[in-house]
Amino acid sequence: MFVGNCKTKTIHYQDCHYAAIRLHPENRVFFYSIEEAFRKGYHLCHFCSPLVREMRERKRELQTLSQELGISCFVRKGQLHIHSPHSQWYVLPADDGKRTLFHRNTLGKTDACHVQCTVRSGIPELIRYISAHDRYRRQHPLPAAAMPKPAAVKGSKRWRKEKKAAKRVQKRVEICRVLSLIDSLDRCRLPL
Ligand SMILES: [Zn+2]
Repeated sequence: MFVGNCKTKTIHYQDCHYAAIRLHPENRVFFYSIEEAFRKGYHLCHFCSPLVREMRERKRELQTLSQELGISCFVRKGQLHIHSPHSQWYVLPADDGKRTLFHRNTLGKTDACHVQCTVRSGIPELIRYISAHDRYRRQHPLPAAAMPKPAAVKGSKRWRKEKKAAKRVQKRVEICRVLSLIDSLDRCRLPL
């Protein structure tokens, strides 16, 4: 269970000292999971985030590793982000000391992301995993078919074809609507 501040959009672990002092009862909201709060636009408190604490404690080690692999690792609004030249990620603390690694989608919507994995590992291990993931992706690029098709140019052959198909669908929807209307009228008449 996490406690949030609906004014500042920050969430805290329930034992956070900062929240205990600063969080006014009127602004208090509760969440069962960080992910739920995150989806609603909340971010983790800088004081009680275990990831921020680990960043502080392992600063030297992380700096060396980041330089070695060319990956940057930073905290923004209490949130841990890991960016490599090929991909962008962020990490959320999960249950029982685990971490959930989110991969920002490079195809389609740029602001979308997917859960890559939930593991019990430290930030250096996650950075190494990302580096290996990049290497693999460079060797095995995603097929071009997975790329979303750009919108058809107005007046082009594909545009006309798509328009025709849309019209057909619309016609079918209208026919269904009329049929169900006749059906309902029939049902109304039956008792008489
Ligand atoms: Zn806190």
